[in-house]
Amino acid sequence: MKAFVTGGAGFIGSHLVDRLARDGNEVTVYDNFSSGRMEFIERHLNKPYFRLVKADLLDEDVLNAEIKDHDVVFHLAAIPDVRLGEKKPDISKIDILSTYNLLDAMRRNDIEMVVFSSSSTVYGETPPVPLSENYGPLLPISVYGAAKLACEGLISSFCHTFDMKGWIFRFANVVGSRCTHGVIYDFIRKLRKNPRELEILGDGKQRKSYLYIEDCVNGMLFGFEKSREQINLFNLGTDGTTEVNEIAKMVIDEMGLKDVKLKYTGGKRGWKGDVPRFQFDISKIKSLGWKPKYDSSDAVRKAIKDLLAEI
Ligand code: NAD
Repeated sequence: MKAFVTGGAGFIGSHLVDRLARDGNEVTVYDNFSSGRMEFIERHLNKPYFRLVKADLLDEDVLNAEIKDHDVVFHLAAIPDVRLGEKKPDISKIDILSTYNLLDAMRRNDIEMVVFSSSSTVYGETPPVPLSENYGPLLPISVYGAAKLACEGLISSFCHTFDMKGWIFRFANVVGSRCTHGVIYDFIRKLRKNPRELEILGDGKQRKSYLYIEDCVNGMLFGFEKSREQINLFNLGTDGTTEVNEIAKMVIDEMGLKDVKLKYTGGKRGWKGDVPRFQFDISKIKSLGWKPKYDSSDAVRKAIKDLLAEI
């Protein structure tokens, strides 16, 4: 298979590239390196199965030329920080336009399969029960979530209008080696700077599902292989959840620190657009035979160890 991976130099994208390469596929990474890092894909450079295109999805000419002759597109490129939306709402405009350009380039080049990294943020503020893919109405409360939902809509409409197939995975919080944002990364950086005090955004009681990177890549490829509808929509996460306060304790513990003062910014949300409690129903992908190897809190603990060795 010849795979085109947008955002392939990023956290999740680079792990996907490792796995696609290991499975014997040809891989093109298309990345503007806004948050991606060369060191994540270094091992593949100059290998016969690998090609790197340093470019932006907003550059339609480059995109149209480079996407030719691929079998499948894995679309992971996005500005990944949900918190940015409050200060820079135009991140949604960039991500939606990038996705449109990509789908249009696929249409022009007769590429029929697209796999997309969506997010739990499309669900918005929801009841505190496990949510299945059938939940609605979908009313995101962050501009990041709104952009993801708009991209899902574009993918669905292109698939139906131009006879393409789409796989949409709504990820939980993905954690692990090479992660460059998110709560674990933030806590480690803050504690490295000041090991006596840790600032926690909100009241620390936010509770969400965390998914280990290996499970994320396995789940995505599993869903891609096992389902062949026109649109294949899956929640990809863990059954359980982990509270932010527990994550803080785990980070402090793994760093061997004692008597750390926890300082809360207050309020039930970490930032505007933060959904304080979210739980997935993952029975749809489980019914195909997939389950995560690590539960939510094991994923967090493992990711802390990974990141402590890296940053
Ligand atoms: P990341 O920032 O590490 O990766 C995103 C990559 O996309 C980066 O390499 C960046 O340079 C590239 N990129 C961004 N805009 C681009 C553009 N216009 N043109 C070309 N390249 C561009 O983030 P990640 O955590 O690996 O996230 C990967 C995908 O998964 C994103 O779509 C993100 O929204 C989604 N997602 C991530 C999580 C998570 O917990 N990490 C959860 C839900 C969804």
